[in-house]
Order: sequence, then structure tokens, then C-alpha cells
Amino acid sequence: MSNPIKQIVARGMGCALRLAGVERFAVTRGASILFMYHRVLPGGAPPDWPLKSLIVDLTDFERQMTWLCRRYEVCTAFDAVCGVSRGGRPRAAVTFDDGYRDNYLFAAPVLDRLGVPGSFFVTTEFIGSRRRLWFDVAALLWHRGRSAGERRSLANRMSELKRMPRAERDEELSKLAEPSDWVSSERDMPMDWADVNDLRRRGHEIGSHSRTHPILTHLSTTELRDEVVGSVETLRDHGVEPRGIAYPNGDCDEAVTAAAAEAGLRYGLCTQEGWHERGADVMRTRRIDVNPARLKRWSRRTEVGLETQCAWCALLGRRA
Ligand SMILES: [Zn+2]
Repeated sequence: MSNPIKQIVARGMGCALRLAGVERFAVTRGASILFMYHRVLPGGAPPDWPLKSLIVDLTDFERQMTWLCRRYEVCTAFDAVCGVSRGGRPRAAVTFDDGYRDNYLFAAPVLDRLGVPGSFFVTTEFIGSRRRLWFDVAALLWHRGRSAGERRSLANRMSELKRMPRAERDEELSKLAEPSDWVSSERDMPMDWADVNDLRRRGHEIGSHSRTHPILTHLSTTELRDEVVGSVETLRDHGVEPRGIAYPNGDCDEAVTAAAAEAGLRYGLCTQEGWHERGADVMRTRRIDVNPARLKRWSRRTEVGLETQCAWCALLGRRA
């Protein structure tokens, strides 16, 4: 199907989904909903930055949060997963992975204005550094390589790198990257520890996203412990008591959830999409990925796109 036709079909389906009230159906079953964000920037994704699915425009974010606050009881991820509903409105949580400074500069003030908490899952080695995360370096190299004839899609390149053992991946990136590629630009900076602690003082939740953002299921027992327990210890050293972890790339297995429990964490967040149903495994909580391109396919209005995506995920959950 051509793109315009796809869009018309998606919009038609979007209307039908919302009218079908599947979202309300999920709510009556005691489900809560957790939204997954990574970055929020004024103007959205810059044209020269390839990881566009991770960046939400600030104006869209404000509209989405206003819509959310009208319909849901917005709480921390901990309360959405482990808390008991007070009845009335369904619970929703707004989560952020990685620890970029734009979360602090642009997203948190919107949440503060609306009087709701966010949950920020930070990569502890990234915080306070000026270094890019490995996948940002990979994206930068892919973008540069495209003009030199790179044929693989970014998604293919990323999944290839994610499948590699960590040492092999680091070696491959080190071979291709200049030392300056590892240095973060002002726009892509991480938060520092003062930012993280300021968020905590303002009532936001801080959780772990590992130390260095590896794929946790590919690590040895020692490495896994170092990444999960180590990140929790670093957070505690900085005065933060985390209660949950968002697994990098959403990957987890028995060993990963055991390491999280050993670190004293009470819940874990995946990237598998869906609502968090009452009684579901709290160490493998589903979320809704707020992907700007996908929301646009449902509707030109970002809050309608988000509403439809919620309904779509509720429908998938019913079939699963
Ligand atoms: Zn991440």
C-alpha cells in the first residue's frame, strides 16, 4: 500500500478502535498503563539525528501529558506496578529511559506544571559524563556511513550490534569511531547527579537502567551483577534509593530478573507493548512506546494518536 493509503486505513482503524472502547475495557480489569519515553526536545528530532523514534517534540509532549492528566491518575511507575488503585480513574505512569539531560530541561518542567510525577531510569555511568552511549555512537557512524554508501537500514545495523557480545561490539565501534565521536554534544548530554537529585527532591522517581546500557541477557553472571547491582549501588551512593529497573532494550530473562531482585529492586520494566494487567509479573512489566512516527500514522493530533495506540495495545492484550 502507498503511504497516503496506509495513513487513511490507519486513521480509519484508529477511529474504530477508540469508538470500540477497548481502552475502557482494559481499565475495568484493573490494568494500569505505563508510557515509555526516551527524549523530549523542542522541535522534535533534529534532521541530522537518525534515532528519530526516540525523540518526542516538546509541544506534542505537553499535549500528550494534558490528555493523560484529564483521563488518568498519573503516578510513579512503582505505584502503577506495585501500588493499589484507589479506585476511580485508572493509573498511568510516565517513564523515561537512559538519563538524557533533555528529560530534566524540558520534560520535567511540564510534569511539574501539571503536578504529576515522572519516573526516570538512568544509565549510571552515563550520568555526569560527557560520553555518548554506545548506541548513539553507532547511530552517528551509521548516519555518516550512509553518504559513503551504507546500505543496511539503521534498524538492521542496530539489531546486528545488539546481538554481538559486548566486547566484540565495543571493539567494532572503537575501530570505526574517532575519539571525538564518543564525546557528547550539548544537545545529547546526560543529566548530572545534581539534576538527578533535584528531580528526586521534586517528587519524581529515579530508577536504574544499568551501568553502561548493555543487553543484559548477553552477559556473564559476573557482568550481569556488575551492571544491575553495581548501578543500584551507584544510585545509593548518590542518595537515591531506586525501587525499579528498566531493562536496556527491554531484554530480560530469569537471570536478569534474579539479579534485579538481588539488588533489592521491586519491579522491572520491559519494552514489550501492552497494559500492565492486575496479577501480571511485576518484574516484566509491559509499556506503551511513545513513537512519534507511529502516533502520526493514527492521527495528525498527537493526543488522539496516543489514545488510539493505548486502545490498540489493550486490544492486543485481550487476544494474548
Ligand atoms: Zn535505554
